[in-house]
Amino acid sequence: MRDTELYRHLLAIEAPWTVSRVELDVKGQRVDVFAEHSRPKTWPCPECDLACGLHDHDEERVWRHLDSCQFQTFLHARVPRVQCSQHGVRQVRVSWAEPRSRFTVLFERLAIDVLLETDVAGAATILRLSWDEAHHLMERAVARGLVRRPHKVPRVMGIDEKSLAKGQRYATIACDLEASHVIGVAEGRTGESLIHCLGRFSINDLSAVEAVAMDMSEPYLRRIRAIIDDADQKIVFDRFHIVAHMNDAVDKVRRRENKLLRADGDERLVGSKYMWLYGAENLPDKYEVDFAALRSSNLKTARAWAIKESLRQLWKQRSRAAGERWWHRWYGWAIRSRLEPVKKVAAMVKRHLPNVLTYFKHRITNAGSEAINSVIQMLKKRAFGYRNFENFRTTVLFHCGGLSLYPSHPKPG
Ligand SMILES: [Zn+2]
Repeated sequence: MRDTELYRHLLAIEAPWTVSRVELDVKGQRVDVFAEHSRPKTWPCPECDLACGLHDHDEERVWRHLDSCQFQTFLHARVPRVQCSQHGVRQVRVSWAEPRSRFTVLFERLAIDVLLETDVAGAATILRLSWDEAHHLMERAVARGLVRRPHKVPRVMGIDEKSLAKGQRYATIACDLEASHVIGVAEGRTGESLIHCLGRFSINDLSAVEAVAMDMSEPYLRRIRAIIDDADQKIVFDRFHIVAHMNDAVDKVRRRENKLLRADGDERLVGSKYMWLYGAENLPDKYEVDFAALRSSNLKTARAWAIKESLRQLWKQRSRAAGERWWHRWYGWAIRSRLEPVKKVAAMVKRHLPNVLTYFKHRITNAGSEAINSVIQMLKKRAFGYRNFENFRTTVLFHCGGLSLYPSHPKPG
């Protein structure tokens, strides 16, 4: 088989196009493939498919294609332009690439597969692209996915704030909890951020939302009440957030107590920070012996921990009535604990109790966002993740948006 014929097949080039020549540059480790077309009488307009006469040819364009073994491979062609009576002078579509792309469809598909497996820097190395080029392919994939995304209001929604850098930058992320997809990403954690996330839905659309899992955040709360009918029946304060507040309280108690103990030469709490943050069932084996002694001690931290662990049982109650009874017992214990940070959380949860107990109607949580958390962790490791917020948004939607990312397969031109 001649090399031109070989590359016609490799590139899936169809009539009227053929491969006219192939140049191999061994030193530069590259293959350049040149495509030409025969002379059809008409070409379809890229907008309306109307058969139009040839107008002229654009300058030669170059597309990166899948490597030929270790050789980078580039396709060259001068693309015809037609004169459409409706749309004016337009470049015709080519079967091997999407409009305005500098990569063939097959290369873009590979790049998306690689980007899904690693981060932009890793993909850039594997694909021998610059960081910007790899990121741009990700942006194109997301843009493609967003155009194709159906206009569907989630029945069950999750609203979450994520910290991007230690308490300095935040993002608001809205999810479809049934599909486990991110539906919106916005900078900040204000009511405005929430509106940005949900901007493509009208108030009328949003009336279809049946339940919303979220943190006890006033700005979100005000907005949700403003945009969703009957919001108070639908909002569920997320149990993971509530337990996180309690974990925080345990840690505050531990810090204070540790200081006092150390002043007396008692080192029992030194290095114990992480032991207290696990749920009892998740404690790593290496802590087991030390922790058993600590939790059965008369330390304040042990008491705070027991109250926190006990709170987790609230969500295991069978019904709202049982949950409410359980809550009152727990609250009595917490509020009489003489542990200020614990009392504070107990009071906060009490203020929001109706929307904690809506859990028993909807039984939803935001915990399904593990995929999102791992993307955020990945971005946190690298400073470029913060360079601008759009990069963050693109990356989250690319990995967690449930989008249809791939360019369509080449079809005959
Ligand atoms: Zn046209």
